[in-house]
Amino acid sequence: MKPTYLFLSITLLLIGGLWVYGTFVAKPRPLHHPPAGTTSPGNRRVEKSDAAWRSQLTRSQYHITRERGTEWPNSSELTHEHRVGMYACVCCQNPLFSSATKFDSHTGWPSFYEPIVPNAIYTEPDGNRTEVRCSVCDAHLGHVFTDGPDPTGLRYCMNGIALIFTPKR
Ligand SMILES: [Zn+2]
Repeated sequence: MKPTYLFLSITLLLIGGLWVYGTFVAKPRPLHHPPAGTTSPGNRRVEKSDAAWRSQLTRSQYHITRERGTEWPNSSELTHEHRVGMYACVCCQNPLFSSATKFDSHTGWPSFYEPIVPNAIYTEPDGNRTEVRCSVCDAHLGHVFTDGPDPTGLRYCMNGIALIFTPKR
């Protein structure tokens, strides 16, 4: 075998090996990692494979919560939901926001000034914005901004599709 062919064969074997490893052996790095020290209500933790999330969620729910998508403004009925009740994570049912802290931000997205308990969510830097995630399952929920109303001055700008609303009975 000429040295050139030998070199080519080794290169092809290496590439093939890497492909097999990447496709069948290495697990994809999870998209979401809670920062060290993150706690959740009741220390609950929900972790599922990508395939499990895909089969549990609708296509849009999957895209928003697991691929960090953003829904079109005014696309969610929850933007104009005014009943008393509780908003939970669509992926893991972790209670996230109370209707008592919901306000009309005129942005087209459901907006709250604080989570139902401080550790219901955690935040992560996202460019010049701050991403909000569910502390139990790491679902991408939306972003938090500092132009909210009293008493916190915060505006949790949420994707309605990432939330389930349960009216109080
Ligand atoms: Zn969740």
